[in-house]
Amino acid sequence: MIDKIKTLEEKSRLLNPDSDHRATLMNQVRGHTEEFLNKIKDAKAYTVPDENDPGIYGSPISEDPMGLDAALSLLKDKLDKPGINTTSGSFLGYIPGGGLHFSALGDFLAAVSNRYSGVYFANPGAVQMENMLLDWMADLIGYPKTSGGNLSSGGSIANLTAIITARDDFDFKARDFHRVVFYMTEQVHHCVDKAIIISGLREAVIRRVPMDERFRMRADVLADLIKSDIDEGLRPFMVIASAGTTDTGAVDPIETVADIAKTHKLWFHIDGAYGGFFILSEEGKKILTGFDRSDSIVLDPHKGLFLPYGTGTVLVKDQQKMFKAHHYLASYMRDSIHEEVSPADVSPELTKHFRGLRLWLPLKLAGLSSFRAALDEKIWLTRYFYEKIQKIDGFEVGPYPDLSVMIFRYRPNQGDINDFNKRLVRAIHEDGRVFLSSTTIHEEVYIRLAVLCFRTHLQSIDLTLSVLKETVSRLLTI
Ligand SMILES: *Cc1c(COP(=O)(O)O)cnc(C)c1O
Repeated sequence: MIDKIKTLEEKSRLLNPDSDHRATLMNQVRGHTEEFLNKIKDAKAYTVPDENDPGIYGSPISEDPMGLDAALSLLKDKLDKPGINTTSGSFLGYIPGGGLHFSALGDFLAAVSNRYSGVYFANPGAVQMENMLLDWMADLIGYPKTSGGNLSSGGSIANLTAIITARDDFDFKARDFHRVVFYMTEQVHHCVDKAIIISGLREAVIRRVPMDERFRMRADVLADLIKSDIDEGLRPFMVIASAGTTDTGAVDPIETVADIAKTHKLWFHIDGAYGGFFILSEEGKKILTGFDRSDSIVLDPHKGLFLPYGTGTVLVKDQQKMFKAHHYLASYMRDSIHEEVSPADVSPELTKHFRGLRLWLPLKLAGLSSFRAALDEKIWLTRYFYEKIQKIDGFEVGPYPDLSVMIFRYRPNQGDINDFNKRLVRAIHEDGRVFLSSTTIHEEVYIRLAVLCFRTHLQSIDLTLSVLKETVSRLLTI
């Protein structure tokens, strides 16, 4: 038996490289990431994938180990190139963020020490760090000390957590579900619709509140809708306002919606996954008022704080409500009872990624003032593009940007306008120097500009303007 154990030990030691081996591995990884980052300035923002390449499938998992060099070269060819390059400053599609290097280091540190951040007892420091970050964010939006929150994997789960908290607070029974009413515009992110279904409220009524010409919720209509629903015996429940819609960047009239929600005792939720962190900026602060009047809010650090993907935030004004909806005490967890609220008490997760460190490290190392400047810069860059694009013959714009997302399109002298803009976006993707995504609003195709990568500066915006100009001329001569 001893022989057997010794043989197994020898083999299993491969899982635990010694100091010299670790140093070699670190150097190799560092070589890889440095090459990637040093070339980022000229790297394409989009590379059309080669449909005939088996990609990562070409190297199946096997019994035998592979060298790190070979593994890194697989990443370089199969992952780092094809598709959208979200680390590029010229990536201006969907909602960018970029992925701060400081956070990569934070993730590395978190993974090496592998502290357990789900419950206070297991690692008080990790839970304190996450709670401190949540307190900082709560303070930022003006929530009281009695508020609570959770660092989630993203905005979708954060919205779900808020809806579940509100659902339990209103204490609906299954027999009421079909009478429960949500209010939101058509421009609310689709993850909210998903969350409603997942939360069990599939039967609930969803009222799409009409929007003004700038794609913002019409609060006057909201009030009327609520009143008529009450008259019909329905149970108005939750208003969801967007602080920056994904599609057009519109900010709903938060203060007015808050008044209406309060009058009718509805739960007021704000989806600020894209735009919420602009509250750190001078320009953003002017438009993002009234956050403190909501019952819950979602913010996405992997958007507005430029973190790599995997970190969202939900904040709830009354922590007790979050706790009530998510807390559970299992017998094998009895050592872990503590006054300090743990992530496991206020979210569906138990064991989880220690997300705090990837957020804490960049805030510490770069300081808040750098984030404020970067966010203001993004707003001004969008305004700059808004002015400049109109000076190129044939381009027309949507509403003046509330934050850093806007829509525009080219109006050709002849032919179908939607067709032309679809071709324009396709041609820009094939070119790849910059990346823009498109959307359909009332059956009209628009191109979106979304400025939120921390690497996006004036140069990327000027490049985008010249790529658009060039591409249009090229398409017009075909
Ligand atoms: C991105 C986004 C979401 C979804 O967040 P994920 O982090 O992608 O899950 C929700 N709402 C808005 C407004 C968004 O922009």
